[in-house]
Amino acid sequence: MNIAIYPDPVLRQKAKHLTEINRETYQRVEEMLELMYQAHGIGLAAPQVGWSVRLFIIDANGSSAEEKVFINPTIIEEVGEVNKEEGCLSFPGVLSKVARAQKIKAHAYNLKGQKIEIEAEGLAARAWQHELDHLNGCLFIDKMSPANRLAISNQIKEFERAYRSNHVVV
Ligand code: ZN
Repeated sequence: MNIAIYPDPVLRQKAKHLTEINRETYQRVEEMLELMYQAHGIGLAAPQVGWSVRLFIIDANGSSAEEKVFINPTIIEEVGEVNKEEGCLSFPGVLSKVARAQKIKAHAYNLKGQKIEIEAEGLAARAWQHELDHLNGCLFIDKMSPANRLAISNQIKEFERAYRSNHVVV
């Protein structure tokens, strides 16, 4: 398992609902947690490791292993707006301000298949919105203001060049 770097096409796919939690799910989640910590991230969505299912992990407040995994998540309420700097493990080295809701209410399923309700604000709410976007093939560059996106356009072109030189693009 590796973290997919932009513009890997898997990042643009709409991920499918996860319909079964089995031993393989646990193994993949373990690997995702390892990758996220290695990369010093606070969130990682399954599509970012080439696994196109609706699951992500977030560790924004040192929560226990079980509380970090969110399956088939939905945001049901968003309150306020904050424009703050954000990064993404699929865009190493890129930081830019992105406007996000300040607070969210959401639900999801945990690794035991239990429905859970989530209220998050600040960094955790930001991570939730960022990771949920990944499940819909939406990336943080899509949410940046035109000026902020222009400011990182050289970094984006560099990712595109690197991808082309490592892959046969048809
Ligand atoms: Zn991301």
